[in-house]
Amino acid sequence: MSQRMTIGCACGHTRLEVEGPPILVSECLCDSCRAAAARLARLPNARPVLTSYGATPSAEYRKDRIRFVSGAETLREFRLAPDAGSRRVVATCCNTPVFLEMKGAHWLSLYSHLWLENARPKATLRTMTGDLPDASALPADIPNLKTHTVSFYLKLLGAWIAMGFRNPKITTAGTVDA
Ligand SMILES: [Zn+2]
Ligand SMILES: [Zn+2]
Repeated sequence: MSQRMTIGCACGHTRLEVEGPPILVSECLCDSCRAAAARLARLPNARPVLTSYGATPSAEYRKDRIRFVSGAETLREFRLAPDAGSRRVVATCCNTPVFLEMKGAHWLSLYSHLWLENARPKATLRTMTGDLPDASALPADIPNLKTHTVSFYLKLLGAWIAMGFRNPKITTAGTVDA
């Protein structure tokens, strides 16, 4: 029996239901995540994505385990550059960043702030710390990995096999500039 949970944006208009546990939960320190967070933070009333040490916490979920309950019409995509393969999607009701979608990915990285603080999935590792000029300031509570590991990709591959290699499409209502 898999557990369903409803999570959502800061104002409560955009809500998603997720089914079961995430594929994995991590904090990303890559240049793209930090640059995107800085730009999205400029949107009016934006909800900040980064931790105090510049990490982006997120939970990877299979696309077929995510369902928008309300607010899908508010979703707009943001790309770091017009030709960027990956996109970050924002709920424009209150400018809450909702997820990162890599090009061709069968999963979404749901930003951890969509969960209430006491229900937030806990990261088990930090990735891409090699992008930081100085990674020594990171807390030592969980492993700080310089890149993505083989097991990271294996977990994602395992999820795709379980999905029968399908890749559901997530549509948005337009783009957002930040
Ligand atoms: Zn909202
Ligand atoms: Zn990243």
